[in-house]
Amino acid sequence: MISKRISSLSPYKTETTPAKIKLSSNELSIDFPEELRKRIGEELARLPFNRYPDPEAYRLKEAIAQRFGVKPENIMLGNGSDELIYYLSIAIGEFDRGVFYPVPTFSMYGISAHVLGRKRIEVRLKEDFDIDLEKSLRKTREEKPALAYYAYPNNPTGNCFKEDSIRVIRSEGVFTVLDEAYYHYSGKTFLEEALSREDTVVLRTLSKIGMAGLRVGILIGKEELVKELNKIRLPFNITYPSQVIARLMLTEFYPFIEEAVKEVIRERERVFIELSSMEGIKAYPSEANFILFKSPIPAELLHEGLVRKGVLIRNFSYMEGLENCLRVSIGKPEENDAFLQALYEVLKEHT
Ligand SMILES: *Cc1c(COP(=O)(O)O)cnc(C)c1O
Repeated sequence: MISKRISSLSPYKTETTPAKIKLSSNELSIDFPEELRKRIGEELARLPFNRYPDPEAYRLKEAIAQRFGVKPENIMLGNGSDELIYYLSIAIGEFDRGVFYPVPTFSMYGISAHVLGRKRIEVRLKEDFDIDLEKSLRKTREEKPALAYYAYPNNPTGNCFKEDSIRVIRSEGVFTVLDEAYYHYSGKTFLEEALSREDTVVLRTLSKIGMAGLRVGILIGKEELVKELNKIRLPFNITYPSQVIARLMLTEFYPFIEEAVKEVIRERERVFIELSSMEGIKAYPSEANFILFKSPIPAELLHEGLVRKGVLIRNFSYMEGLENCLRVSIGKPEENDAFLQALYEVLKEHT
């Protein structure tokens, strides 16, 4: 009964092992302040829970528009950017044309294409994790994909691809999605192009800046394009509580987020230096809120050793091109210290 497309699929992978220190999902480690929790309680108590929420989540869109310097009409919201990735894979081009993305990268691009029966056109990143332009162009000319996804910066490698490579591939007639889930940590964006071109959109999310539990993803593009995409959005996809809490967070309580993001960026630089100074470890520079590194001992051993010491990170050694690589999210200073200490101890036990 279940289609072959689905039965051959492996489910989205995430770390669910319980751990005292969780640095595995690129969340913000700092939770809402007490003052905000009180406000949320008051605001939520006033909501008409028996009614459907605003289907357009207009007030939240206004708050987001103001934050990002765009108009509400340039925005479509999703239940996480994951939902928006699905919508784009449904809406862009005919299904007999495939979906292009460089690998290793975020798994949802491949999963959404596969579920819909669209061809997955993958090109391996070069040794330095940048786009292999020559190979990518050859593939695009051969396969004529309808759309391309780029995580910018890329997850799990942490780097931003060369902008011009993305533009050159786009000029072959490929609709281009820049997934800027880590925008706040990189400061780099294709926003101007998304606002001025028919063939480019930007995805953002609130998940990596402290609101992963709310599930709010953001698509930004030209008004006419957003209007078309909005036709396939499931109605009421942003719950009332999420609309209210996210709006509070992006307005009155925004300074809290800004501070937290700054601290993560500072900590990222510190953890990078500490990792790089450890015997045998190769850390890759990151413009996101995580760092990928290569372990001198089998990644599985290192991962288990850390879990035993109460620290959970993500093992990526199953991905082609990432042999013995693991990814650690940047947490609070004391969490990062605990990770570094545990890492030091596990390495010592095995050498
Ligand atoms: C975390 C992540 C997402 C998922 O975002 P949600 O809004 O939580 O669905 C999307 N893209 C990339 C590259 C990510 O790392």
